[in-house]
Amino acid sequence: MVGIDKGHRTLIATSSGNLYGEKLNHLLNKETERLNEKNKVRSQYWALAKKYEKEGNDQKAQNIWKHNFGKKKYNVQKERHDATVKSYINFSLNQFFQQEKPSEVISEDLSFVNWKDKFPKHVKRKLSRWIKGYVRERIEFKCEAGGITYTVVNAAYTSQTCHRCGSFGKRTGEVFDCETCGHGHADINAGKNIKKRKEDSEINLYTPYNEVKKILEKRQI
Ligand SMILES: [Zn+2]
Repeated sequence: MVGIDKGHRTLIATSSGNLYGEKLNHLLNKETERLNEKNKVRSQYWALAKKYEKEGNDQKAQNIWKHNFGKKKYNVQKERHDATVKSYINFSLNQFFQQEKPSEVISEDLSFVNWKDKFPKHVKRKLSRWIKGYVRERIEFKCEAGGITYTVVNAAYTSQTCHRCGSFGKRTGEVFDCETCGHGHADINAGKNIKKRKEDSEINLYTPYNEVKKILEKRQI
């Protein structure tokens, strides 16, 4: 049985202590930068075309519209990027399945994961929406194909509590800090908590967030 957490910089972190898909954020950041740069250039052309129109220079204005606001080039680049990301996701997930050989994968519900990243809002939304769906779909597919059980658990507070003692700790980037147990990798700590959630007799998939907090607080005393 392996618990998986959507890592902050990686595709997944596992309860067995491994990280997969460490280049994912780099790939996404690169695309975001490209889109931002592109938008900047586009708005410059936009302003220039408007200026030409105002001056009555319709031919020049039309040339700008024609050559810089086409959908075709944009779509080709977008498809190329999406294909790269998809193949990287599959490559990383295959690595995970081959290396861990799980009989059961325990995961948070990936549709509700806050894929924390540094993207500007408009890009972040576009990028992460399809990626979330895609990752979940691929994990489910690969589990089914390999006869592996896929279990979704309630992941509330799994990244904020220590998997060893259950205390609420502090997360700073990649590091999770428990006052009693010390430092650890934040995503791997979450992966271990997710694995434990499956056996939790008090917290099920439908236990409300606030309720989970109360239960966890009670255990600390
Ligand atoms: Zn601890």
